[in-house]
Amino acid sequence: MSDLPVDPALVEAAAAGGLQVATERHAQLAAEIERANRLYYLADAPELSDAEYDARFRELVATETAFPELRSDDSPTVKIGAQTSSTFAEVRHSRPMLSLGNAFSADELRAFDARVRKGLGLAAAPEPVPELRYGAELKIDGLAISLRFEAGRFVLGATRGDGTTGEDVTANLRTIAAIPARLTEAVSIEARGEVYMPKAEFARINAEREEAGLALYANPRNSGAGSLRQMDPAVTAGRRLSAWFYQLVEDGPEPHVATQSAALARLAALGLPVNPESAAGLDIEGVIAFIETWRERRHGLPYETDGVVLKVDRLDQQARLGLVARAPRWAIAYKFPPEQVLTVVEAIVPYVGRTGTLTPVAHLRPVKVAGSTVARATLHNLDEVRRKDIRIGDTVILQKAGDVIPEVVGPVLEARTGAEIEFEMPAECPVCATPIVRDEGAVRHYCPNLRCPARVGQEYGHFAGRAGMDIEGAGWAVVEQLLQRGLLGSRADFFRLDVETLMTLERYARKSAENLVAAIERARRRPLARILNALGIPQVGEQTAIDLASWLAARIPPAGGEPMGGPDGWTARGAAELRRIAETEPAAFEDVPGVGATVAGGLIRYFSEPASRDVLAELVAVGVEAEQPAVRPVAAGDGNEAAVGPLAGKTLVVTGSLAGYDRQAAEAAIRAAGGRVSGSVSKKTDYLVAGESAGSKLAKAQELGVAVLDEGMFRRLLAGDPPAAGA
Ligand code: NAD
Repeated sequence: MSDLPVDPALVEAAAAGGLQVATERHAQLAAEIERANRLYYLADAPELSDAEYDARFRELVATETAFPELRSDDSPTVKIGAQTSSTFAEVRHSRPMLSLGNAFSADELRAFDARVRKGLGLAAAPEPVPELRYGAELKIDGLAISLRFEAGRFVLGATRGDGTTGEDVTANLRTIAAIPARLTEAVSIEARGEVYMPKAEFARINAEREEAGLALYANPRNSGAGSLRQMDPAVTAGRRLSAWFYQLVEDGPEPHVATQSAALARLAALGLPVNPESAAGLDIEGVIAFIETWRERRHGLPYETDGVVLKVDRLDQQARLGLVARAPRWAIAYKFPPEQVLTVVEAIVPYVGRTGTLTPVAHLRPVKVAGSTVARATLHNLDEVRRKDIRIGDTVILQKAGDVIPEVVGPVLEARTGAEIEFEMPAECPVCATPIVRDEGAVRHYCPNLRCPARVGQEYGHFAGRAGMDIEGAGWAVVEQLLQRGLLGSRADFFRLDVETLMTLERYARKSAENLVAAIERARRRPLARILNALGIPQVGEQTAIDLASWLAARIPPAGGEPMGGPDGWTARGAAELRRIAETEPAAFEDVPGVGATVAGGLIRYFSEPASRDVLAELVAVGVEAEQPAVRPVAAGDGNEAAVGPLAGKTLVVTGSLAGYDRQAAEAAIRAAGGRVSGSVSKKTDYLVAGESAGSKLAKAQELGVAVLDEGMFRRLLAGDPPAAGA
């Protein structure tokens, strides 16, 4: 235990108060850390920052160093992570998954080097010891996972849990494109690494959550963990997670590799993603230099790293050094300090979002933090402004959440002059003057006016944008001009624009106008899921739009020969059906996979309120037509008719239990999408859809090399998205 890095000044401070004070402080710190562990590891929603957590942890270690009698077997200093949640099956790790000791300065790294030299019986610094070399790797801020491959196939994946027992998240891991279903060699190994959420995806998800009034994720680590530890793999599939691998656990007594650097190379050769930014062959000063080069550079990476892990490279030396309670003696994590700066809140301005939500945004005196200049930071909502007590004129501490999103940590109270002003939500919309509403018990304030120009502008931008109808060239500048000139009274008006009209826009010559008209033409045909997402229905994001589209297609399959577009086509029928459900059978929306009461409420309102219920029909009237799921069930007959749809010509077998479909519904959806359903797996099977507790059929499919889909992939396939490579 004395091997845990401790700060002598902290030990001295802990000793100074005597045993009784230390006992109380110890109990308090242990309780705070236990609580933080539960929030962090089980709820994926920490309340403390990592730096605050680390400070408490260091103080606890220092207290136990000063008074060893306070140590016990259940102290957080000897435990890893937290127990597993009952949501998942348990997986016992073949070898424990450990934590790492932390270092916060070059001196602590040199102290680590001294311990390693001593442990290996090598000369003390500054004597060079060529036989001791370190590797340095970026510390990926994600969720530790362990993957089991049997004869080259991915068979089991688990979280770290308490280090001994983790959670079975195999189905969710299968939805991650970076994780191969098969290695390049038929070996049986365990590969350990980190699942992470790229920064851009983190920003996207939080923006969506904010707009929907949901609690925000604190950082990519928590959103990544929250996304992986989902009951429904479809949710995981909808979040773009990725992974880096850094540890190879080989079966048998004869390992292939003798060093950590060779292990990284081997993992990469087996087809696993390995982070390229590592260095090997370093002495401790080399490691310190490596850390310095990444201190600023890391902000430019598309994923978050919170430090550098240094590891003794030779595995035989690692084995001789062994472990302390919860961490290896041959590795340590240097943690970058959170970058915090001071600035002044010059104003707090409420912005009206796409769904009308008013978000208070702090206008800050511009300041550089974590690699970029920041002048704005969202304060999320009024409750948050009050909880942190942030006032206009305050000097505040600013940092970036997950290295991306500027976050006001709180005010510097000592800097207050009394001239600071409390922020109030306006009683009326700052854009259209409609009285602002806050629903009973809800956090968000919003402008209820569906025609509020602020809402309309963003809605139209979203409609034309990449996640919507994808009208190339119809960026914000164009949409804004069109709105200002009154050329967009409805979404359907996009499809009424002509070259002459567009040529009246600023900087629009004939060629660019023609290009835009051609792009609009192309946008008339889009997958139904896209069209639904483009509508900007409150609470409905990309995944729900996909689910709703395939549900609708299974419910009202197009009749043989029926056109997709036009007043009598399938798209028009779909539009009418959605309105009919909202008005006469609203509970049916809760049958859509993944849709609960809140989302169903959003759908009901959207498809029944006069201002929105006919938007889809109006789009159909101007020539918009769904291309997917272009579903036409195979007519009963000789079985030779050409099926059309995303599964046309494909044979699928369903096994195990799926969260969103019973067996009949899954089979109906396959048929509606043009596919065939078979009861047994053979060489002719194109896909096996495998739900929970799939058994012999799964084994058979794996044996025959039939592509296996989990529920998330299945839904995507139904919606016209081909399954990710490696499935
Ligand atoms: P850790 O995150 O400090 O380090 C160990 C982990 O680093 C490993 O388990 C592994 O998952 C990961 N890692 C990433 N890249 C790696 C690489 N290249 N090589 C090896 N490992 C790599 O330790 P921990 O035990 O996972 O968690 C403790 C930390 O979690 C705390 O220091 C704190 O930052 C955070 N935490 C925060 C709260 C909170 O309330 N904010 C609560 C609990 C834990």
